[in-house]
Amino acid sequence: MNPRIAQKIILVGAPGAGKGTVAKGLVDRFGLIHLSTGDMLRAAVVAGTDVGMLAKSFMDRGALVPDEVMVRLISDRVQAKDCRNTDGSPRFLLDGFPRTLPQADALATEGLGPDLVLFIDVPNESVVRRLSGRRTCPACGSVHHIEFAPPLADGICDRCGGTLVHRSDDHDATIRKRLDAFAVQTAPLVQRYGSVIEKVDGNLPPEVVLKAAVAVMRRYGFAT
Ligand code: AMP
Repeated sequence: MNPRIAQKIILVGAPGAGKGTVAKGLVDRFGLIHLSTGDMLRAAVVAGTDVGMLAKSFMDRGALVPDEVMVRLISDRVQAKDCRNTDGSPRFLLDGFPRTLPQADALATEGLGPDLVLFIDVPNESVVRRLSGRRTCPACGSVHHIEFAPPLADGICDRCGGTLVHRSDDHDATIRKRLDAFAVQTAPLVQRYGSVIEKVDGNLPPEVVLKAAVAVMRRYGFAT
C-alpha cells in the first residue's frame, strides 16, 4: 500500500447529483471497490431480506433508512477482503454513506474516517429535472434519461434489452422529500468534513464532472 494515496474515499451529493456516474468512472480508472448503499438496499429489496423489507418503506417515501440499519450494513461490508489492502488496512469508495452526522460518527469510531470526500454539487432544479426523467434498468443497472439520454427503443435498455423502470422514488413528490432529507440531514457533513472535502461542480456534462473528479484524485496521490 502506498500511504500517500487516499484509501478511504466518500462521495457526497444530493440525490441525482451524479454520484453513481462519477463512482463508476473512478472505479474503472483506479480499481477501487464501489460501495453504494442505495444499490445495496435495492438489491436487498429485490432479494426480500429483512433489511430490504424494512428499507423499502423508507425509500418509497423518500426518507432515510434508520442510522443503526445503515451502520450495521456498512460495518459488515467493509470487513470483506475486497475492501482491504494486503496489509489489512481499509480501501473503498463509499457512495451514499454516510448520509447523516451519526453515520459519520459511527464511521469515525470504527477508524474509517475518510482521507478524501468528493462533494458533487448540483442545484435542486437540475436534480428534479434529472431524476424525474431518469429510467433505470433493473437487469444491468444502466441508466437512461427520457430527455438527455433516451433509449433507442422506448422503454427498452440499450445495453441488455431489459425493461426500463421509473424508480418509485424518482417521482416528483418523493424527489422533493429526498432533497429535503439531503438539506437537513446530509448537507451538514460538508462542514464536518471541512479539511478533506473537495467540491466538484456537478452541474456540467458527465464527462466534464468526471474529469474534475479525476483531477482531484490525482492530487490525492492516484496515478492514471
Ligand atoms: P440512492 O440511490 O443513494 O439515492 O439511495 C436511495 C435511497 O436509499 C435513499 O433515498 C434512502 O432512502 C436510502 N439510503 C441510501 N443510503 C442511505 C444512507 N446512508 N442512510 C439512510 N438511507 C439511505
